[in-house]
Amino acid sequence: MGKSFAVIGDPIDHSLSPNIHSAAFRELNLDCSYIAYRIPTGELEEGIEGLKKIKIDGFNITIPHKVEMMKYLDKMDESCSLIGAVNTVTNKDGVLKGYNTDMDGFLEPFKKKKLNIENTKVLLLGAGGAARAIVAGFAKEKAKNITIANRTLENAKNLSEFAKKIGLSANAIKIEDVKDSAKDYDIIVNATSIGLRNEPSPISLDNINEKTIVYDIVYMPMNTDFIKKAKEKNAVIIFGYEMLLGQAARAFEIWHHMEAPYNAMKKALLGGF
Ligand code: NDP
Repeated sequence: MGKSFAVIGDPIDHSLSPNIHSAAFRELNLDCSYIAYRIPTGELEEGIEGLKKIKIDGFNITIPHKVEMMKYLDKMDESCSLIGAVNTVTNKDGVLKGYNTDMDGFLEPFKKKKLNIENTKVLLLGAGGAARAIVAGFAKEKAKNITIANRTLENAKNLSEFAKKIGLSANAIKIEDVKDSAKDYDIIVNATSIGLRNEPSPISLDNINEKTIVYDIVYMPMNTDFIKKAKEKNAVIIFGYEMLLGQAARAFEIWHHMEAPYNAMKKALLGGF
């Protein structure tokens, strides 16, 4: 019998995950389906029961359920317990196991492009859920230190404590206080939601150079103002869609125990823009 998968969240109609996974199934001739399923805040428990009843084989989780979903897991992978949020679940006879593929998804473009992280100075803008997975990634790859700049200083401080706990030297600062200090860093990542509504770049990139790696995890629009400013400086660019693809490829591998057809998934994703 074919296998079924889903992505749950709210809002969910904009999700590109069904396109990406369906393209992978077509490419490899797998008898599988993948749908987007809206579960509003406060209805997660019933939603999960529903998914178990239809014997779903696995699902992805997006905003706003990534943290709350942890309560409904029977088992978790160490990526999930480390980051404290779940974005991928397997269902084996009603036993739900959680994983977090955001960290590997974030790191994937560095690996694909052979970009070094070890011993680099990192500026991370944002301190939300995605930023936490990113901090775990920089700790894993042994960055030298990370400056976490955020609108709410308290959230940056909490994330900086987490970074230190997992062995990454870190400091926290208000985002307006790093507006002109981009030149001091090797890697600059935007993990705020600034850009989603075409807002201007959260910091000035005027004094970066062509070696600076500029990574925007916002993927819609693809060319945010932050990315455009980095392009003007001929910096090394990583787009948000590359992280999205990386986390989807890793989820595919967890579910299907085979290498993800990355190029077919990429083509489907870029066709969705
Ligand atoms: P969260 O809601 O957990 O965090 C949002 C972050 O953005 C916080 O740091 C928040 O600051 C900051 N922020 C929001 N609005 C503003 C503003 N107007 N000015 C300054 N800072 C602001 O979201 P996530 O961490 O889950 O996601 C963040 C972004 O990353 C989203 O755009 C999401 O689409 C994208 N994303 C992309 C992925 C990919 O695969 N490419 C994967 C996951 C997320 P504060 O703490 O002050 O509220």
